[in-house]
Amino acid sequence: MLIPRLCFGCNGRLYRGEQQLCTVCRNHLPLTEFNFHEENAVDRIFYGRTAICSAAALFFYQEESIVQNLIHALKYKGQKQLGEFLGDWFGEILRQGVPNDLIDIVIPVPLHKKKLRKRGYNQVAGFGRKLAYHFGAEYRDDLLIKTANTRTQTRKSRWYRWLGSRELYHLRNPEALEHRHILLVDDVITTGSTLEACALALQKTEGISISIAAMAVVP
Ligand SMILES: [Zn+2]
Repeated sequence: MLIPRLCFGCNGRLYRGEQQLCTVCRNHLPLTEFNFHEENAVDRIFYGRTAICSAAALFFYQEESIVQNLIHALKYKGQKQLGEFLGDWFGEILRQGVPNDLIDIVIPVPLHKKKLRKRGYNQVAGFGRKLAYHFGAEYRDDLLIKTANTRTQTRKSRWYRWLGSRELYHLRNPEALEHRHILLVDDVITTGSTLEACALALQKTEGISISIAAMAVVP
């Protein structure tokens, strides 16, 4: 039996040549047009907080939107291929206007091992692997680990969230990252405190450079 393929944005039927999203949803996606060679609003999230070379996100994130549906399906409905789809898309954008050898290693924001076991996969793995492919970089998910299984404390202030999250990440084998340019990848950037905590763990390494790529950013 042939099951019709459905659009992850609107649940409508996909036609020949359409992948993951129908043409209408694809044309309505709020692309940021951010890249790695011009300063943008995601770079500015990290100003004065941690030293980041470049930062960018593919989409603007809004509640009840095509982007939210995509990320929800990727995270909670086992639709891992959506991460690869977004990584391919963003990889082509980010490669433009930057040196071929810009990025050495791609590292995903890690899940705690209990959460990883429960979900079965890290939702940013496919995205990160595709970005690594486009940059000719290595993908490593064994170096940065999450040491405590905490919930996101959304009601606390940015400062308290930062205090609470700064020790949650641990870098194994920092020598592997010495004098390398790391691309840290995540799904949605809201306050930036998760990525900041990861960057702080990485920055203990000598000569490291860090850039950031996310699927979406809350405007
Ligand atoms: Zn659609």
